[in-house]
Amino acid sequence: MKKHNFSAGPCILPQEVFEQAAEAVVNLNNSNLSLIEISHRSADFISIMNEAIALVKELLNVPEGYSVLFLQGGASLQFLMASYNLMKVDGKAAYIDTGAWSTKALKEAKLLGEVAIVGTSKDSGYNYIPKEIKIPSDANYVHMTSNNTIFGTQFKEFPKTDQPLACDMSSDIFSRQIDVSKFGLIYAGAQKNMGPAGTTLVIVKDEILGKSGRTIPSMLDYQTHASKDSMFNTPPVFAVYTSMLTLRWLKKLGGVGAIEKLNEEKAALLYNEIDNNPKFNGFAAEEDRSLMNVTFTLADESDKERFDALAKEAGLNGINGHRSVGGYRASIYNAMPLESVQALVAVMKQL
Ligand code: PMP
Repeated sequence: MKKHNFSAGPCILPQEVFEQAAEAVVNLNNSNLSLIEISHRSADFISIMNEAIALVKELLNVPEGYSVLFLQGGASLQFLMASYNLMKVDGKAAYIDTGAWSTKALKEAKLLGEVAIVGTSKDSGYNYIPKEIKIPSDANYVHMTSNNTIFGTQFKEFPKTDQPLACDMSSDIFSRQIDVSKFGLIYAGAQKNMGPAGTTLVIVKDEILGKSGRTIPSMLDYQTHASKDSMFNTPPVFAVYTSMLTLRWLKKLGGVGAIEKLNEEKAALLYNEIDNNPKFNGFAAEEDRSLMNVTFTLADESDKERFDALAKEAGLNGINGHRSVGGYRASIYNAMPLESVQALVAVMKQL
């Protein structure tokens, strides 16, 4: 029996995507060649890359004037690339610190300029989203993390700013409708809602590039990749192909608006159990709860052994909290079926 996989990432993908990706590794489109042995310059692969880019544009309504890139190095390399491309020489950037990933992002920015922390929830272990955010007028850009994978908090509204807004959407991209025109830069590691680890999606507004006044190494320059349609160097062909399959699946399902409704339904079911079952406590502030990563703790730690045993018996995988927070975290990304959330809720009721 397939397990109910609540892993935070890499994580569950649609079963049909696993099957189609496996087939393509053996024989791509009945060509009698494997996806991973053909040239990335072949017509077959170029059409895969083009379809992946077109699907991103369609599903997220990306306006004209933005480049969609499939890069490598994970979201972690974007922490550095964002600052290389957007921080001016002797410049300053505004960062909202909502947890471990934001902290890592701002650490990289500090290598290149001044960082003003314009909001933080560090004081209470990152269990909420700071609301009063004042952005200095001399900031070159503003950086935020839309969904905090480890803590289970999520921005419901985005800060309004005249400066380019750079957003790490690694753990909630394609899960809810967004207005891309409000952002200068969006990036996301593929391995939650889009595909396997190995590629990073970047959506960048062309007009904000080329203004930093610094020399950017080729591989770190968004303009290099945009000018070569993400083929400056060999792209991660398997990760791009499998992401494309997941985006096809999402389109077939009705797109981001349709999945958003399902995501709300799944999250409501689980938070409702957390709120009504005295054996559990939610970790994140109610108004900032993530629809993707649901964090909770046991009211009585002595229930742990029994709860873990019940979860194992029910085939639940990956519900342990991040080592820095403890407790439990159920990641309920796009591909997670409602039935798996129901299985978790049944175990919580059983305790
Ligand atoms: N940002 C967020 C919000 C994440 O959840 C993660 C990974 N879990 C990262 C960045 C780091 O991504 P990567 O491992 O692809 O570098």
